[in-house]
Amino acid sequence: MPDNTHIKYTLNEDEMPRTWYNIVADLPRPPDPVLHPGTHQPIGPADLAPLFPMAIIQQEVSTEPYIEIPEPVRQVYRQWRPSPLFRARRLEQALDTPARIYYKYEGVSPAGSHKPNTAVAQAFYNKQEGIQKISTETGAGQWGSSLAMAGAFFGIEVEIFMVKVSYNQKPYRRYLMEAFGGMVHASPTNLTEAGRSILAQDPDSSGSLGIAISEAVEVAAKSGGKVKYALGSVLNHVLLHQTIIGQEALLQFAQADDYPDVVIGCTGGGSNFAGLAFPFIGEARRKGLSTRFLAAEPMACPSLTRGIYAYDFGDTVGMTPLTRMHTLGHDFMPAGIHAGGLRYHGMAPLISLLYDEKVIEANAYHQTSVFEAAVQFTRTEGIIPAPESSHAIRAAINEALEAKAAGQERVILFNLSGHGHFDMAAYNSYFSGNLEDYEYPAKAVAEAQKHMPQIV
Ligand SMILES: *Cc1c(COP(=O)(O)O)cnc(C)c1O
Repeated sequence: MPDNTHIKYTLNEDEMPRTWYNIVADLPRPPDPVLHPGTHQPIGPADLAPLFPMAIIQQEVSTEPYIEIPEPVRQVYRQWRPSPLFRARRLEQALDTPARIYYKYEGVSPAGSHKPNTAVAQAFYNKQEGIQKISTETGAGQWGSSLAMAGAFFGIEVEIFMVKVSYNQKPYRRYLMEAFGGMVHASPTNLTEAGRSILAQDPDSSGSLGIAISEAVEVAAKSGGKVKYALGSVLNHVLLHQTIIGQEALLQFAQADDYPDVVIGCTGGGSNFAGLAFPFIGEARRKGLSTRFLAAEPMACPSLTRGIYAYDFGDTVGMTPLTRMHTLGHDFMPAGIHAGGLRYHGMAPLISLLYDEKVIEANAYHQTSVFEAAVQFTRTEGIIPAPESSHAIRAAINEALEAKAAGQERVILFNLSGHGHFDMAAYNSYFSGNLEDYEYPAKAVAEAQKHMPQIV
């Protein structure tokens, strides 16, 4: 019998999981090799060494099911972890649904999202290998602020290439990065060859995540080993670090004496969805459960539902290794939707594989319907959600309404990946009726997909 009184399920610090969960040990088939961007031959750990510390590279290729979380990382996690699991009772009442809706809330971290879970781990491993500076990119600033915070904790300088349109439109996250001690540039810049080549073609370029990645990677690659690069999503080790979320949720569901029928997360590069879902996927595969897993993405950048499953670059300029993933094409420029963290052309290779194997489902949503769900959530649960996370709320509400129509007691779990306190201008656009829905950009995607590398 599910617990019928509690609003939140909390664990104490000593109950926090001691290991991360590596889904590579439980995949239906082995992951595809990562290829060199020039030779198209499989790469090994040595090829990644200019960019990442060796401990991270080992995690990137590990097939061990559990990897120990170092004590200094656990020590930082304790400030906000374990994060609460909430039962959305007032939202359930408002929807008049027989479904039980739960959400894991990652907005309790100091930076306001799930991203510090990996930022702290990455800063720790860099520090351990004597690195003094990390370069990275950020879209709306969630990742940049998380890494700047982690850099401050471990005494590492952080240089951040921020997509220019966000740099200008969202100054508060920039100020937050600076408050944590980060150095922030509006990308494309004149500081890198990648940036200069984009500016030569288009001096007014408003930038993109793919361009900012090219710049940050170049800074590390040309530093002679002094600067390393960090990515906030997509890669195996990032998804690994996020699995603390789902492992805590498994313990919290045991407290609630309940279990989800469907697990939902929004997907930009896939890390918060993976963090919540992978431990449940592992359990479902080992125990033969029929739990469903649903990725929620924006209609303006629908890499899972409309992308093709092929080898592509992770950045715009074509400097990164090639990975097999669902992609809209590495030079596809998504429309300026407010969910900046979901504007990425590709998807994590591990999630792409699971989608291809039909272990997970995906749906794409228009931003006005996403904000409508966000406001309903705010008015019932009291938390202003990030526009990214609100895609998961839209999906969860749809599931609850379907359950109502079918007269079913569906148990729904979604990841509330962050709060939206720095996104109030987006809410203002919604309230003043200025939010635009962008149809699926079929022509732009077809054009971008023509430029993808041909791998035989
Ligand atoms: C960055 C971000 C996302 C998207 O990234 P994923 O790697 O797909 O999780 C989602 N929600 C929030 C709050 C973010 O900051």
